[in-house]
Amino acid sequence: MRHLIFTALILVSLSLSAQKTILIKCGKLLDTKTGIVLEKQNVLIKGNQVISISSSSVAADSTIDLSNYFVMPGLIDCHTHVVLQGDITSEDYDVQVLKESIPYRAIRGTKSVEKALLNGFTTIRDLGTEGAGFTDVDLKKAVNKGIINGPRMWVSTLAINTTGHYPIKASDYAWELKLPKGLQEITGADEARRAVRQQIEQGADWIKIYADRGYYRLADGSFRSLPNFTTEEINAIGDETIRSRKKLAAHAMTRDGIIAAINAGASTIEHGSGMDEECMKLMAEKGIFWCPTLFVNEYVAEGRAKLGSPINLYFQQSIQATFKKAIKMGVKLAYGTDIGGYDWGLPQAKDFTYFVDWGLTNMQAIQTATTTAAELLGMQGKIGEIKAGAFADIIALKKDPTKDINALQQIDWVMKDGKVYKN
Ligand SMILES: [Zn+2]
Repeated sequence: MRHLIFTALILVSLSLSAQKTILIKCGKLLDTKTGIVLEKQNVLIKGNQVISISSSSVAADSTIDLSNYFVMPGLIDCHTHVVLQGDITSEDYDVQVLKESIPYRAIRGTKSVEKALLNGFTTIRDLGTEGAGFTDVDLKKAVNKGIINGPRMWVSTLAINTTGHYPIKASDYAWELKLPKGLQEITGADEARRAVRQQIEQGADWIKIYADRGYYRLADGSFRSLPNFTTEEINAIGDETIRSRKKLAAHAMTRDGIIAAINAGASTIEHGSGMDEECMKLMAEKGIFWCPTLFVNEYVAEGRAKLGSPINLYFQQSIQATFKKAIKMGVKLAYGTDIGGYDWGLPQAKDFTYFVDWGLTNMQAIQTATTTAAELLGMQGKIGEIKAGAFADIIALKKDPTKDINALQQIDWVMKDGKVYKN
């Protein structure tokens, strides 16, 4: 036994010393914590970790010259759908769920995760497979085993809603058909607990719920909706999630969903397009993150309005004021796009532009997808920053995004875990 332990120790130390070092010469290097842009820095990497940053030259096994580039940590998208390929209309959605097999959607998903990585997003939190089972767990596994190229992934598997409140909508089809659902349906607190336990057993890192539906605008311009869960159901989900040391992400558009989700212990509010001041106050007090998913709302607004559903258009008319008020009240903003809800061929870095147009500095906008997003994932100091001990998740671009935020739509070079994926 002792002999085996000794051999194992030698093997571990051999594999550590066998890891090659890489020196990256950075023309400009962004410190996302302080917002300072440093000139002519050398980042030393060993294996998948950053070892040191210094202005003096350091010996390494190989050198990557990025002296003409702006270098920063890989971006983090806190709201994606890797097995969805855009669903502006309910027909787009139904076609994917009914006409595409889950293996086919998984194949398409391999392209989505690669796209995210090449877009400079070295980490994503994927919020629901929309009828594709536990495919997100498989994609994450394939990425981690190096079978396909993709970002670090936190996944939430099926998502949870109450019976009859989510597509595929049975009344759109012949009633005798047995149709698949875009998530896991529950009725009652026991089924809620069972769903959380089943999803965690299958590999869910987060639990995702749909807290409300049927959004509408009142005459005074405020928004309301129908809550999906009873208090017992949503609290059971929150309790089971938190007791399992997982976190809860809640799709919630108005106070009817948002406040119920906050009371159940949600860590993040997704979309929240119709939130009011009380929601903002509670979120700021409790340190709950907001992923506002701005581009997707604008992208779907007109198409859905033409089909007789103008609610996204109404959100679009009020969201800028809502955003400004939430920031002023101290709500923590995390970068989340909902890409997959819109086509993966469209920009993933577009929400930064809205943030800056609506009052954030370029640096504050960048922090939503670096330091703040790392905090949302409980990964402070490991991702979203380039510092000793962090993962070597690094991107480079020609332009300086602290001066032109749209530069983030063109990432020229991507490294994840010390390996270069885009050159
Ligand atoms: Zn979504």
